[in-house]
Amino acid sequence: MLLELIVFLLLVVALALGWWMGRREKRRRLPPPGSLPQLSQDYFTGLNYLLNEQPDAAINTFVRALEVNSETIETHIALGNLFRSRGESDRAVRVHQNLFARPSLTKEQSERVQLELARDFMAAGLLDRAERLLIELVEQNGKLALESRLLLVDLFEREKEWYKAIHTLTNELFRHKPPLRRAAAHYACELAAESLQQRHFSAARKQLKQAFAFDSGCVRSTLLMAQLELYSGNPKAAIRLLLRIPEQDANYIPTMLQTLVDAYQQLNKPQELVETLEKLLERHPFTSVLLCLAETLCQQNQHQLALEKMDYHMRHQVSLRGVDYLIDLYLHQAAGAERTHLLTLHNLTQQLLSHKPEHQCQSCGFQSQQLYWQCPKCRQWGSIQPIKGVEGE
Ligand SMILES: [Zn+2]
Repeated sequence: MLLELIVFLLLVVALALGWWMGRREKRRRLPPPGSLPQLSQDYFTGLNYLLNEQPDAAINTFVRALEVNSETIETHIALGNLFRSRGESDRAVRVHQNLFARPSLTKEQSERVQLELARDFMAAGLLDRAERLLIELVEQNGKLALESRLLLVDLFEREKEWYKAIHTLTNELFRHKPPLRRAAAHYACELAAESLQQRHFSAARKQLKQAFAFDSGCVRSTLLMAQLELYSGNPKAAIRLLLRIPEQDANYIPTMLQTLVDAYQQLNKPQELVETLEKLLERHPFTSVLLCLAETLCQQNQHQLALEKMDYHMRHQVSLRGVDYLIDLYLHQAAGAERTHLLTLHNLTQQLLSHKPEHQCQSCGFQSQQLYWQCPKCRQWGSIQPIKGVEGE
């Protein structure tokens, strides 16, 4: 609060200085009978607000009273930006719109104000108005074209207009901001996921190739390509793709397991699934892999083997989900009082597990049960991963 007040005061001083210089300039050119009393009145009203600790009212008075000239334009822009950063986007719009209407602005100044106005509209949620201003700036191809294009990509991302976002990207933009490649791959993945859902396989394949071209390390595009192969009746190709994921990023192994199981089911090779899972578990001892292995063994009526595997791995790396599943396996063999005790324990582990987040953003710490490819909090792509440790993997 104190910092904001200081910034406000500094801006007010800057505005007042701009006014004073403007007045002095005017006086040199044209002696000012008449106009001074009105401005002076506003000036002192503003000062009065300041002294009464009403900086907002003071700013309003100064903005209304002070003329825009070459000395004050930067301050007016900064003032609008300050309003926006305080969450007062409607006031930011007023300040910047007031500036934008001035015919005396140079082309460069006008573009700057237009860009800030687009930012204000975005902050106010008026995305269509922001879009119009940004497209104009991009088409004008002036000094701020690159910055405007970047903001336009961000806007299309917010609107989930993935196709438009991709077509706004340029190589120059990628050079300017390399992490955009990762985002671009996810835009293409979003389109591919939609195409897969509608069973438009050839469109999905094209979109996934585009995702690979943007970012060859994109795990999501590998997973979607594997799903595409599976839906197209090529389970072997799906498995080959899925087994690349541990090399791309082992953190996403839990995410690929269901597709792996589905692929081996389509092949009707349950024993090969067991072998693949055992190999995976050796190198990547995730609880999800262990549970998937135990579940596969149980489906083949190998309860005892599943129990031994669980017991062995839990001794080396214990996890809450593992213990819960182990109790479940013991329950199949138990009877009488032993069964009652195990049921009590099972209820407790279930309670501990309920509503436990399974994923966490590596960038901002946001936690969720489901996997989001874009963090809903910090909006980073591919930053959410399964939680590890006793309470996770
Ligand atoms: Zn985040």
